Order: sequence, then C-alpha cells, then structure tokens
Amino acid sequence: MRTIGLEEHFVTPELVGHGASSASILQPEKWREASRRLLDITGERLAEMDAVGLDMQVLSLNSPGIQAEKDSATAIAQATAVNDLLAGVVADHPDRFAGFAALPLQDPQAAAKELERAVSELGMHGALVNAHTQGRYLDDPQLRVVWERAEGLGVPLYLHPANGVGTPHVIEGHPELVGPMWSWGSETATHFLRLVFGGVFDDFPEAKVLLGHMGEGLPYVLWRLDSRWDYHNHHGIELARGNPSEYVRHNLYITTSGVCSAPPLLCALLALGSDHILFGTDYPFEEMAAATAFLETAPISEADRAKIAHLNAERLLGL
Ligand code: MN
Repeated sequence: MRTIGLEEHFVTPELVGHGASSASILQPEKWREASRRLLDITGERLAEMDAVGLDMQVLSLNSPGIQAEKDSATAIAQATAVNDLLAGVVADHPDRFAGFAALPLQDPQAAAKELERAVSELGMHGALVNAHTQGRYLDDPQLRVVWERAEGLGVPLYLHPANGVGTPHVIEGHPELVGPMWSWGSETATHFLRLVFGGVFDDFPEAKVLLGHMGEGLPYVLWRLDSRWDYHNHHGIELARGNPSEYVRHNLYITTSGVCSAPPLLCALLALGSDHILFGTDYPFEEMAAATAFLETAPISEADRAKIAHLNAERLLGL
C-alpha cells in the first residue's frame, strides 16, 4: 500500500540554532540523536523509509524554524534559502519527497508572496507554520493576506506546535509539562480555535488547516464545543456556520503523527470522517517503524486505511 507521511522534519546547519529553545524539553541524548537525524535529509532517512515501507515524506523545516527569527529581513532571506534547498532535495528525489514551505510570517506580505513562489514556482504543496510568530497568531488581521493566498492556491497550512509565549500560570513551576507531552497540544488546539472564532474560515471558507498528533485533541470535544457555544456569552462573535464543530469538520484535516494508538484514531474517524485523516510519523522524534506498523494493523477498514495512507494526501496536496 502506498504510504505518504505529512509530518516529517528536517533542519539545515544554518538554521539549527533556532531549535535551541526546544533542546531543554528532550532528554539530552534524545535531542542529540534527533538533531543528527534532522540534518541527514536523504541518507539514513531514505534507507529507513525503504525498510518500513514509507514511500514518500512531505518534508518540513523543524519547529520553531524561521519563526524564531526576530528580524523580518533575515527571516525572508532564510525562508527563501531553505525553500530553495528543499526544492532541490525534492527535485533529486521526486518519487520520495515533497515539501511544505517555510514562511517569513514576520512580514505578512512577504509571507504571502513566498507561499505563492513556493507553490507556483518550486512545486510545494502548502506551508508548515510553527505556532505563533513572535507572539502573533494566524487569526491576526494582518495575516489575512496569507490565508487569501493559501485559499487561492488551494493549499493547506499545517499548524505545528512550538513553545508558547511565556508560560501559562497553571504550568509555572512544572517545566515537565512544557512541550509535546502536554502544553504544545493544548496550545495548538487553542490556536485552531482562535482561527474559528477569529473569523478566518468565515472570510476564507475553503481555507484548509492540517493539525498533527491526531488533531491535538479536537476530535474528542466536538459535542461539548457546540453545546457550550450554545450556552455561552458570544462576546459579539457570530459564526457563519453556526456551530464551532462545523469548522472542525469542514476546514480541518488531521494527521496521525506521533499517535500510534487505536482509541484516538477511532474517535477521529467517527468525529471527522475518513476523508479528513492523513498519515504522518513526526520523524525523527518518533520512529517511522512504529508509525507504519500502527497504520498497517489499526482496526479500521481497508478502504479507510488506503485513504489515510495515501488517497487523502494525493487529493489534498495534489501529489
Ligand atoms: Mn512534529
């Protein structure tokens, strides 16, 4: 069965410094090993893909990527360079790799322009965004130009976690809760809800977002979102689709990255339907072999397995 992974990270020697803030989250030896594998884009990675039956990786720059850069001009130069490099990797291995662009969101106009260049000229299939950019989230009115371009090009934005701005009070004194085990997921789900209530999908009804990690918990809470929205003070917000769950079902696509467990997959299938679930491994932070073995053995129909493994990716990304 053809298998395509959508959350597959790399880094370059020039940009490796942006990941310094993530280093303290991992055990030191795990960080060293992940860093080594991030830098090896086509060597060990291709051999492992062959070994586990992963046909294609859609590559993305590792979190937080150039969004950690404070200077806009530097971010623009870095995005251009890394997208050119990624296009070169894809050109050398067109059957094995595809790409999500990195965007210099520090400058919204430049980010929209780079998205268009990456898709139209470099053949990329969307962009991967790592949480906030210097404290700015994707519902910011200044970033509507990026959504307008993404919707126009028909490509998704993959919303990936990164360290938040500061530490939420409830997490203070508990650094073990910061990172992919807990805070990244809840903050990324919250970021998606900012897009819903911030009107992004009412302005751009066909905008598409990908979330990793089985949807960062959102498939589990759809009924409660709607039931409590019906009960809450709306603070002047009107949702064109009526209920928040409608946006999760329409605008959101999720990947299985970093979750090799049947209960959340079955929940996601029931909540979102099999057309909105795609495969990903979260390499190199998770093992490709565990992810592909889970996909092969998960208690789902063969029709759904094929959609998750490759059919949905081929349709959504035009692969
Ligand atoms: Mn990841």
